[in-house]
Amino acid sequence: MDSVTRVEPAQTPCPVCGGTDAQHFFRLDDVPTVCNRHWTSPEEAVAVRRAAIDLALCADCSHVYNASFDETLAEYTEGYGNPLHGSTIFRDYAEQTARHLLEGFGLRGKTILELGCGDGYFLRRLCELGDNRGIGFDRSLPQATNDGVVSLRAEDFVPGALDEGVDFVVCRHVVEHASDPTRFVDVARRALAQQPGSGFYFEVPNGSSLFETRSGWDILYEHVSYFSAASLSRLCVGAGLDVRQVRPSFAGQYLSIEGYRDGTRPPLAIEPVRVAAQSDSCRDFATDFEALMNSWRDKLRDWKKAGEVTVLWGAGTKGVMFLNHLGAGSEIDRVVDISPGKHGLYVPGTGHRICSPKDLTRARPQRVIVMNEQYEREIREQLADLGVDTTVCVV
Ligand SMILES: [Zn+2]
Repeated sequence: MDSVTRVEPAQTPCPVCGGTDAQHFFRLDDVPTVCNRHWTSPEEAVAVRRAAIDLALCADCSHVYNASFDETLAEYTEGYGNPLHGSTIFRDYAEQTARHLLEGFGLRGKTILELGCGDGYFLRRLCELGDNRGIGFDRSLPQATNDGVVSLRAEDFVPGALDEGVDFVVCRHVVEHASDPTRFVDVARRALAQQPGSGFYFEVPNGSSLFETRSGWDILYEHVSYFSAASLSRLCVGAGLDVRQVRPSFAGQYLSIEGYRDGTRPPLAIEPVRVAAQSDSCRDFATDFEALMNSWRDKLRDWKKAGEVTVLWGAGTKGVMFLNHLGAGSEIDRVVDISPGKHGLYVPGTGHRICSPKDLTRARPQRVIVMNEQYEREIREQLADLGVDTTVCVV
């Protein structure tokens, strides 16, 4: 591909603790720098900007980060986004999380700020369920909106953007994108009112689980950080937040952390930094993931040779990175997604066409590859409803 932009890796200190004793353990070259934006033609999709991901493990705090990340290459302009709430499983999870926060933090009649709110779905649920008022910031929004309950602004949150401190800050799947997560969390903390009970909830992908389960499809350029419970706690405690709980969520795929602006009680005992355990799973990751990719390349080639039609379900992060990491071409006939906004568009990097589940009634694939076991049941039900008789393979 001619239009690729290459970026040489630059050694950078750990963005969580500032430590300089980091070991590189995994590298991917020519990865699309924006994975959650889909394109209107296959040519544009294939010609996306690319750069290397160079993962390093911090020996001091067990944090994993892309040491060659260049924030000027990851653009979150309009058209960027990965809304997941078309799935009932994801909606149920969002609902549970909202109720947990409303109860745990007594959020009723409060002002809630969400940083990186996407289309505002989750914020709106927090407001509807608890009679709260919501303010969301997201620069990928096409325009600002305000319905009197939820106000969405099409910009990044900056200190001073609001006249007064809010009661609660929510931030889901954004901190891992920040080139300076320490500054990001500090800005979030300062948005909170200086009053007892001002609280926060952050959710990020679970980096420890990614490396333990060899789920390399979750490695993408937009993510600077791959948090462990320890490094996420360290980040928040370091910013002065009173961390009350850090736990895996969504079947272990995410990490959730919550607490208060100011500590009024003794700090929570946080799991000791398990640098050794993280180091073990990272050490073997490169070899194991390479073997896993090769086995998938072999399978796809064999199915194609046998004249079988294989379809991938899910044009989200995992699906897009599966295709890119494997360098998949016509072995995958097309990509299916339930989100109507993606239909007729093309996957960044590989140029696969994205279509609706209904298309499968014509395509009649022998195989449907499912990227996330969390959605397997839901996908099987949809295939059955469509009358598509096929073999489902979960990656
Ligand atoms: Zn560190």
